[in-house]
Amino acid sequence: SNDYRVVVFGAGGVGKSSLVLRFVKGTFRESYIPTIEDTYRQVISCNKNICTLQITDTTGSHQFPAMQRLSISKGHAFILVYSVSSRQSLEELRPIWEVIKEVKGPDLTPIPIMLVGNKCDESAELREVSTSEGQSQAQNWGVSFMETSAKTNHNVKLLFQELLNLEKSR
Ligand code: GDP
Ligand code: MG
Repeated sequence: SNDYRVVVFGAGGVGKSSLVLRFVKGTFRESYIPTIEDTYRQVISCNKNICTLQITDTTGSHQFPAMQRLSISKGHAFILVYSVSSRQSLEELRPIWEVIKEVKGPDLTPIPIMLVGNKCDESAELREVSTSEGQSQAQNWGVSFMETSAKTNHNVKLLFQELLNLEKSR
């Protein structure tokens, strides 16, 4: 089918819902509303065709393992989000990356996966993960890397574009 499924993972509070809402609706809110699991659909053009981009915004690392595996096996591309102001949130992505490897791998090179350091707008004093640390973690995991801000809209559109480009280039 012409469905392209993207799944967004990451700890609670890193900005998963904010990134998705910024991309899909162009909005941003300061308040934190915990997510159950939401799926957004957008019609986009890809390879001169029309396809449906389906974005699943998950609850994060506390998702039920069976649900997590199911979204991974159905997913075509993955966004692994941490907050640059929380080292812990980067560490919490490891088990998710391991499950993706288990379900899709062991060679992840054909799977579009983006490690995303969100909240890059936050002041230098609040930063716990540098850009180069994020980059080397991504290299280590064999995935792509980008820093974003859902708040200022930095790299949000590019994030989804890049994922689709990775898909095309495989
Ligand atoms: P989720 O639990 O991962 O879905 O996180 P949310 O999208 O609900 O965001 C959690 C909190 O972080 C909210 O208060 C957002 O306003 C805030 N937030 C999200 N993205 C950014 C960002 O890029 N920069 C800043 N400064 N705050 C953000
Ligand atoms: Mg959320």
